[in-house]
Amino acid sequence: MNHNLYLQFLPHFQRQPDKPLIESPEGQGYTYGEAQARARRLAGALRELGVTPGERVAVQVDKSPEAILLYLACLQIGAVYLPLNTAYTGAEIEYFLGDAEPRLYVCRPKALAEARQLAAACGVPRVESLGSAGDGSLLEKADRAEPWEQVAEIGERDLAAILYTSGTTGRSKGAMLSHLNLASNSRALAEAWRYTADDHLLHALPIFHTHGLFVACNITLTTGAAMTFLPKLDVEQLIGLMPRATVLMGVPTFYTRLLQSPRLDRDAVSNMRLFVSGSAPLLAETHQAFEARTGHAILERYGMTETNMNTSNPYEGARRPGTVGLPLPGVELRISDRESGAELPRGETGMVELRGPNVFQGYWRMPEKTRAEFRDDGFFITGDLGRIDAHGYLQIVGRDKDLVISGGYNVYPKEVEQLIDDLPGVVESAVIGVPHPDLGEGVTAVVVAEGDLDEATILAALGDRLARYKQPKRVFFVDALPRNVMGKVQKKQLRETYAELYQ
Ligand code: ATP
Ligand code: MG
Repeated sequence: MNHNLYLQFLPHFQRQPDKPLIESPEGQGYTYGEAQARARRLAGALRELGVTPGERVAVQVDKSPEAILLYLACLQIGAVYLPLNTAYTGAEIEYFLGDAEPRLYVCRPKALAEARQLAAACGVPRVESLGSAGDGSLLEKADRAEPWEQVAEIGERDLAAILYTSGTTGRSKGAMLSHLNLASNSRALAEAWRYTADDHLLHALPIFHTHGLFVACNITLTTGAAMTFLPKLDVEQLIGLMPRATVLMGVPTFYTRLLQSPRLDRDAVSNMRLFVSGSAPLLAETHQAFEARTGHAILERYGMTETNMNTSNPYEGARRPGTVGLPLPGVELRISDRESGAELPRGETGMVELRGPNVFQGYWRMPEKTRAEFRDDGFFITGDLGRIDAHGYLQIVGRDKDLVISGGYNVYPKEVEQLIDDLPGVVESAVIGVPHPDLGEGVTAVVVAEGDLDEATILAALGDRLARYKQPKRVFFVDALPRNVMGKVQKKQLRETYAELYQ
């Protein structure tokens, strides 16, 4: 059997060639038929450039429909698509090119000269460019190339993509994702979210990350739906486009920013059926405020580069704020003791472990790291801490690497953050562990407040609500928490900022 993910999309290309697939906010773009025709020419160009099945195609380009067509072309010929964060610069790119050893590196047209130098230094044989205005040498080659018709034969473990993790806890790792990993996950999501060909997605996420690339694009292509591509988050534009859309997928920042617009109300969202949030924790407060304003309960789900999506709040049934819901069809989830690995009874907090067709094939060229992150029975140790609540829903309480161990006691940052967030005048907070001469780590809070709030007030308010060892030693105020483009709070950066505090 051929497991090529492209075959999951193919029926829609054939059955509905005139239906829009990707549109710009102005309404131009590609129908299914046009997308398939151009992707085939791109596939032809890749073959002419010597790209063979299993070889990597590294891609650092701005968001455009053509970048998705390049992804389709890679799938079709069995090449491994390897997208790179557009923020990476010289030395970072060099690391990824050296690590991935692609046959071809596709860059932005204006970066071509530098890309050629980097590629030469890393032994990458081919460099082409692809721009967001339909320009670039690869597209020129594609327009002259013979369309490639065949769909490569793909086995059960053959790779569709290598996707680098966000690097929140350390250096990014290349997660090897098979065609089967991606195909099974987008089917599970389509089922869980009742996705159909009538859906129209507002796509304002980057396409070098699992959320915007696989969750968003694969579900669209799997169900024969449509999407509007926005280059980046523009709240007013997003609200303006809602009457022609049905679904929005966003990171929590999308929702806090939407709530800042007075135009967001029930009328504005009357055509929308689903708002999804993920990639970082959505504050319960945001969930409640959004529901009060629009009548829509945001559906929060949980996933990671290595596994695609694992759990989701239900489409029908309660969407519980502060939880990430239930395992998707086919996904097994358990909570284990972080040291011994023994499974814990329901309600206790421990390591989230996962097994299923969604779980990746290992870290690219890191066999030891891969071995260390899997249990003998095939469960993947996610590095996230969580607990299953009384309703069977998963709550993520933070990352194992962010756990604070103070005086030998475990302090789960989320518990302290929630109490701080509930105090009047607090917008949000991050609790971190900072090296401390007596305690090992000192609990430290970094707070964003509106109005004037001081350290003493916060410490006094926590005094009778938290065990002493969980109470912050110090509280600092900042204008905003450091976040990456996916809205993830960069605790590593905060720990560096306050590293010397107790020394
Ligand atoms: P790295 O692995 O390089 O440190 P990263 O884990 O941030 O970076 P991603 O794979 O992009 O890289 O992110 C996955 C992580 O995002 C999950 O392990 C989890 O910690 C977090 N996450 C995703 N969705 C949610 C959610 N709904 N609630 C809380 N955390 C979430
Ligand atoms: Mg991770």
